[in-house]
Amino acid sequence: MRLTWLSLFLVAVVAACSTTTSVDELLSQMTLEEKVAQMAGNGSTALPEGGVLWSAPGVERLGVPPFRMSDGPRGVTAALGGTTFPVGMARGATWEPEVERRIGAAMGRELKAIGGNVLLAPTINNLRHPSWGRSQQTYGEDVHHLSRMAVAFVQGVQEHALANPKHYAANSIEDTRFDVDVTVDERTLREIYLPHFRAAVLEGGAASVMSAYNSVNGQFCGENEQLLKQILKTDWAFDGFVLSDWIFGTHSTLGSALNGLDLEMPIPQVYGEPLLSAVRDGEVPESLIDDAVRRMLRKKLQHRLDQPSDLDESVLGNDEHLALAREAAVEGSVLLKNESSALPLDMSALERIAVVGLLADTPNTGDSGSSNTHPSFVVTPLQGIEDAVGNEVGVDHIGTDVLDAEGIALIEAADVVIVVTGLTAEDEGESLIGAGDRVDLGLSAERVKLIQDAAAANDRAIVVLEGGGAITMGEWLTDIEALLMAWYPGQMGGHAVADLLFGDASPSGKLPVTFPTGLDQLPPFDNESLEVTYDYFHGYRYVDRTGSVPEFPFGFGLSYTTFTVDNLRASQTEAKAGDVVRFSVEVRNTGSVAGAEVVQLYVTYPGSAVMRSERELKGFAKVALGPGEAQTVEISVPVNSLAYYDVVDSAWALEGLEHEVHVGTSSRDLPLAATLQVGAERPVSVY
Ligand code: BGC
Repeated sequence: MRLTWLSLFLVAVVAACSTTTSVDELLSQMTLEEKVAQMAGNGSTALPEGGVLWSAPGVERLGVPPFRMSDGPRGVTAALGGTTFPVGMARGATWEPEVERRIGAAMGRELKAIGGNVLLAPTINNLRHPSWGRSQQTYGEDVHHLSRMAVAFVQGVQEHALANPKHYAANSIEDTRFDVDVTVDERTLREIYLPHFRAAVLEGGAASVMSAYNSVNGQFCGENEQLLKQILKTDWAFDGFVLSDWIFGTHSTLGSALNGLDLEMPIPQVYGEPLLSAVRDGEVPESLIDDAVRRMLRKKLQHRLDQPSDLDESVLGNDEHLALAREAAVEGSVLLKNESSALPLDMSALERIAVVGLLADTPNTGDSGSSNTHPSFVVTPLQGIEDAVGNEVGVDHIGTDVLDAEGIALIEAADVVIVVTGLTAEDEGESLIGAGDRVDLGLSAERVKLIQDAAAANDRAIVVLEGGGAITMGEWLTDIEALLMAWYPGQMGGHAVADLLFGDASPSGKLPVTFPTGLDQLPPFDNESLEVTYDYFHGYRYVDRTGSVPEFPFGFGLSYTTFTVDNLRASQTEAKAGDVVRFSVEVRNTGSVAGAEVVQLYVTYPGSAVMRSERELKGFAKVALGPGEAQTVEISVPVNSLAYYDVVDSAWALEGLEHEVHVGTSSRDLPLAATLQVGAERPVSVY
């Protein structure tokens, strides 16, 4: 055993040395012009099949390959006929990092198959406010949850290509994204807006990071000394490269070059000739150019980008990837209401189903901006339902949002009405090329009326809701029996919806964001202001602090079965810096069908001397159980993850405190408790 570890270690050392050697060897053979040329994109290459890859040059005479990039995060945008997965928010709702790792790997494969090598994903901005037009792209509102999903996705992608977590940092307003200055204090920045980037880079090993358009504390992110030089490259010792967001993400040659931007995308504006002149004039030391090029070369060599792809286009949208897209849509859909066990539907007891709403048969996979994908087909909810029932049940499709007498009559005559409604790319998305931010979090008046009219015509009204984030409900919620949040469920979404409606699978998704009753339960959001302040609290941290009761709390989601969680045990009751405490609970499926539960562990800090969140998610685990089955689930909590950032000492610090640990199945349902006495320590390493 010892020999094996030793030999692995030696192989790793040799590999690291040889990469370093060849990086330096290559660098020493490059002219200044060649080096500077690598620091800016050279536009895009059209693929024979019609997609487009953004590129940044290599050095052909030295065999240094170019970067060829495509967007994610719901699929490889350049891959025509590639797989469209559920959006990031839907995947966040799976609480299943392993599924996310497989999705990352699938996207990595599809990218590689079309000749790409950098995936412009994942989007991991912390969802400060659900009005953000790109809510759908990220995984949610909590740093720990975001970190776990980000690490998994990055590791999956990097089995085949380079990942590019974005947009670094504090990018969560769309309409003013190019200009807004986000003021954020040091502690909030370090604890709320950066840990998931740190995890993606240090734990996930992300090869690159994309800087955001906005500025943070007065400096644009593409030339932000604190974010790029100090935190990313010094504090975290990131050895990869930073690329800018597109066109409007760079502002000055010196600011960018001196503060750590390695690659300007997609074309030279402040780099290229202006950068070359700045080096010749002595304004930018050549050592900085060498550092940037070295970073890119290192990743090109480590990831063997010089090797031809061993994958071909048969992987695009192949059966395995489509099955994965369906699995993720099933796992990420969240059952929010299920009065009188209205769901699942028993097909044998139904004669006619009315399927209602414009979205019932509309491919609705998300934003029309840079993340738009090109699947060869999309299974709509109507198609999924029709496929599932075959000839067994009659389906009346009423494909409008404005019901007439004929439609009402069909709904009245049906055994059950399924209303498919929500949001589309016309309601939310990327700014400039999409709809931008949402100022109202509710459904349009027309869609509310659709639900109400359908529910008035049939007591058994079920709503399937689509959208990229929190939607406020209003009174219609009381009119319906069941509500399934399907998000933008990807190209196999219709099948997934049918799987859940008819009970082939039990819902197991949990909300990765708080669903508030209204805007008054949220921090302020101004989609027009050019100056905003982000403070410490948003999402569940905000509703917990303000004592409000959200419509549906963070972590919430129903199932067709019931679970108990019992017997919370800890590997230790006292701990010190560096320890990893293992908590275990027994989860039992006490119902009559198979299902999966997400056990969630939150920590509170009673008596803390510093401002803290009421509770913070520090661990979770999803467990699938057959009826009557039980399993002991273990959740490990590194003690250092309980530290706060002390701005006076510029260090992470553990408080000498009896921490409380609360375990349950949502942020507002935590029946089990334990205490953990932690010894004070500073500084502690958060990794
Ligand atoms: C978006 C990025 C995207 C890039 C390239 C930008 O407008 O903000 O997320 O990767 O375009 O398409």
